[in-house]
Amino acid sequence: MKESTYDLVVIGGGVNGAGIARDAAGRGLSVLLLEQHDLAAHTSSASSKMIHGGLRYLEHYEFGLVRKALQEREVLLASAPHIIRPLRVVMPHDTGQRPAWLIRLGLFLYDHLARRERLPGSGGVDFRRHPAGAGIRPDFPRGFAYSDAWVQDARLVVLNAVDARERGAQVTTRTALVGARRRADAWSLDLRAADGAVHSVQARLVVNAAGPWVGTLLGGPLGVATRHALRLVKGSHIVVPRLFDHSFGYLFQNPDGRVVFALPFEERFTLIGTTDVDYDGDPAQAAISAEEVDYLCDTASRYLARPVTPGQVVWTFAGVRPLLDDATNNAARVTRDYRLELDETGAPVLSVFGGKLTTYRKLAEQAVDRIAPRLGGGPAWTAGAMLPGGDIEGGDLPAFEARLRRKYPFLAPALAQRLAASYGTRALRILDGVDSAAALGAPVAADLHPCELDYLVREEFARTAEDILWRRTRLGLTASPDAAARLDAWLTGAGAGAARPTQTV
Ligand SMILES: Cc1cc2nc3c(=O)[nH]c(=O)nc-3n(C[C@H](O)[C@H](O)[C@H](O)COP(=O)(O)OP(=O)(O)OC[C@H]3O[C@@H](n4cnc5c(N)ncnc54)[C@H](O)[C@@H]3O)c2cc1C
Repeated sequence: MKESTYDLVVIGGGVNGAGIARDAAGRGLSVLLLEQHDLAAHTSSASSKMIHGGLRYLEHYEFGLVRKALQEREVLLASAPHIIRPLRVVMPHDTGQRPAWLIRLGLFLYDHLARRERLPGSGGVDFRRHPAGAGIRPDFPRGFAYSDAWVQDARLVVLNAVDARERGAQVTTRTALVGARRRADAWSLDLRAADGAVHSVQARLVVNAAGPWVGTLLGGPLGVATRHALRLVKGSHIVVPRLFDHSFGYLFQNPDGRVVFALPFEERFTLIGTTDVDYDGDPAQAAISAEEVDYLCDTASRYLARPVTPGQVVWTFAGVRPLLDDATNNAARVTRDYRLELDETGAPVLSVFGGKLTTYRKLAEQAVDRIAPRLGGGPAWTAGAMLPGGDIEGGDLPAFEARLRRKYPFLAPALAQRLAASYGTRALRILDGVDSAAALGAPVAADLHPCELDYLVREEFARTAEDILWRRTRLGLTASPDAAARLDAWLTGAGAGAARPTQTV
């Protein structure tokens, strides 16, 4: 730790904690962001990866939430055009489900609830002529199309943490809050590192952004009573080899009223999800059940020309939504909105309940607006700011990729594409000083060259092969079985190709 007293200690390196740390550091506050595992190790890397208004929430009359999320969709698209991209979603019309007039009304609202500058509006689709028609069964000749956006969820978290650090925050992973003593003017917090060592830091204010653990922290180390109850709802996804050759996502309605998305994923795959199952286990152990796999396969197979079977599944993941308990019976209907609760019965603690990836920036801004005045922080600033690597001219990712390929003609096209789409302009830092294929060196594993690995360790808090293969990248999906061992060997300096690159940024 570079210092032992902070204005603010943020507990939880998911999207909300990282977003709050970034915002607060940018307002001049001294900040420690604390994560017990890796950044985005839990809910924030297990999402459907959509930056969306939430068309479905209109049915629950959540107009305020949808409007806020649609506004944020525009802000986030502008701030990170490398990791957030437009996604056109098509919805086959099933005459046995929601009537066409209702869907048209919903889409009209979706188009008009907030100002839309970057994305085309919704419309009808004739699947007999539309490119997405080839993927679905001929008994669904018509449907609808609308716009949303797609995000590399774990990278969104990491970029917020990177920005927080560049603005002065201390970011510490693999260290948990395990104890706390509260005085009138400050907290004394006990932090346990991965090696078991415990040490203390002081904080004028604590932010509890522990996602599914928010209640555990309040009732445990922080010892604070709360008005809000949390409802933990597990959501799972399956990944199968690519089911269609176009870039549209599908939204499928299920007879139970829920919806399931089938989305293009990592070039060679299709992502199908999600489920909504009440959950009372350890959030870190959430895993898909056989029933959920069947449910997702069955729902997709009702619509897709080629049925999806459990045998096709190459990867699954599950996360736990920390939702505000609004006493709704149906887990799918529980509100996705958030609440911030400030307790000042001693040194203050601000707790985050609920939320979505899509609204994280707004949530962070509102959180820091509430606490900055008492800590002497400056005004809100993130609405027009870029995330690291997002300063791509005109937000034009293909043009940036073309420039990257011209500058580094020895890069294989797939590598250039991945570097541009993952790191944006920071790809130039990764490649700084690399002037030939020889200087790039052989990949250590899975298309990961030493210069990229070095960057991930130095700049993006990566510590293990799993951090690299499943969160900083998603190369775990295509990597060879020995990739993790090779990376771990490189990370500990023991790998055969462990020579570290010499360039600096
Ligand atoms: C299946 C599913 C699909 C979703 N799809 C979407 C979507 O498409 N679009 C969208 O906008 N939203 C989506 N969401 C919602 C979104 O993913 C969550 O709202 C968001 O990720 C929550 O982030 P968080 O920071 O609150 O929690 P988390 O990401 O869980 O972060 C909390 C962190 O706190 C850490 N922590 C806990 N206790 C301690 C401690 N004692 N010390 C230190 N650290 C601690 C944890 O390790 C964890 O990393 C989805 C959620 C799920 C589950």
